[in-house]
Amino acid sequence: MEFMHLQPNISLKPFNTFGIDVPAEYFLELDNGNLLPEITALYQHKHILGGGSNILLTGPVKGLVIHNRLKGITKIKEDDTHVWLMVEAGELWHDLVLYAIDKGWGGIENLALIPGTAGAAPIQNIGAYGVEAREAIESVTYWHWDEKTTITYHNRECKFGYRDSIFKHGLKDKAFITSVLFKLTKQPKFNTSYGAIEQELEELGVTELSVKAIAHAVMNIRKSKLPDPAVIGNAGSFFKNPTITTIKFTELKLQFPTIPSYRVSDSLVKVPAGWLIEQCGWKGYRKNDTGVHEKQALVLVNYGSARGSEIWQLSDEIVLSVKERFGIELEREVQVW
Ligand SMILES: Cc1cc2nc3c(=O)[nH]c(=O)nc-3n(C[C@H](O)[C@H](O)[C@H](O)COP(=O)(O)OP(=O)(O)OC[C@H]3O[C@@H](n4cnc5c(N)ncnc54)[C@H](O)[C@@H]3O)c2cc1C
Repeated sequence: MEFMHLQPNISLKPFNTFGIDVPAEYFLELDNGNLLPEITALYQHKHILGGGSNILLTGPVKGLVIHNRLKGITKIKEDDTHVWLMVEAGELWHDLVLYAIDKGWGGIENLALIPGTAGAAPIQNIGAYGVEAREAIESVTYWHWDEKTTITYHNRECKFGYRDSIFKHGLKDKAFITSVLFKLTKQPKFNTSYGAIEQELEELGVTELSVKAIAHAVMNIRKSKLPDPAVIGNAGSFFKNPTITTIKFTELKLQFPTIPSYRVSDSLVKVPAGWLIEQCGWKGYRKNDTGVHEKQALVLVNYGSARGSEIWQLSDEIVLSVKERFGIELEREVQVW
């Protein structure tokens, strides 16, 4: 079989939201999942690219970069209260959200406007405004490169956690997610617990809650807060919010009385990484074309021609300074190639 869209030596600049200019040895637009067995046999080094909104490219990419273009949303089941949608992995996440809110189906409206593909959503269990994708994911189907077969994992088996799943651990570099089964509700329970949503709904004059109204509010907030990758290269939050023990937090609070926190359990709290980075003086920092966004310290940016290695270097310096000041080790959320 011949791969119609296989190209050698292609710049990945248009395919990653950081806008890093490195070449892929080979590049393939994949719109047919039936080709996966053949790709498995032909290529040793394979890298899967969705929307490129959660990767940092630190150098030329050896082997085959597969741009996921598997498309389709199919309603496979429905009852009085729920609907099940089989979504091919190359569908854009936000298109899925728009599709769901158009029908009035709830569950993912708080995740409006997150860039990238539906197939990447389970990988880091995308989350925003009090909701995580795992709450709506029934199962994930993937092609296993080593086992050479298609496998479906139920929600439990995906081992979802905060920006985490088995696809970042045991199945890292072993799975090509081909589709995701979502279970959405016809009787949405609205989550407006994030203060900003309620305020935005009020400003929009919304008197009756709906999935559409919430998605609208979330989109407005996101547009006002986050830099648009089309204007300035970035991959959203570069670091995860660290989780620390309440004992450690109590010690820090004595030294830094304004330190914010969110309760995770009786013994754990989460601290906003953006606050820690800002306290270390990084907000608005710029060196050549690499920097820390002026409004949101959690977002590292490429002002034009930054190299991935420069952004990596900056992230290393940030990790070190936060560790020195607060004794907290930041973990990167972005996947590094
Ligand atoms: C402006 C901005 C805002 C953001 N806001 C949020 C947010 O609010 N919440 C949040 O959780 N994230 C956020 N992100 C991060 C990002 O949008 C998500 O992580 C998204 O799910 C990445 O999807 P993608 O298709 O772009 O993945 P890519 O960046 O293309 O890939 C990410 C990783 O997943 C792997 N991968 C991709 N597709 C597959 C597949 N089908 N099978 C196996 N592996 C695959 C890739 O190899 C890579 O290692 C934001 C990013 C940006 C730029």
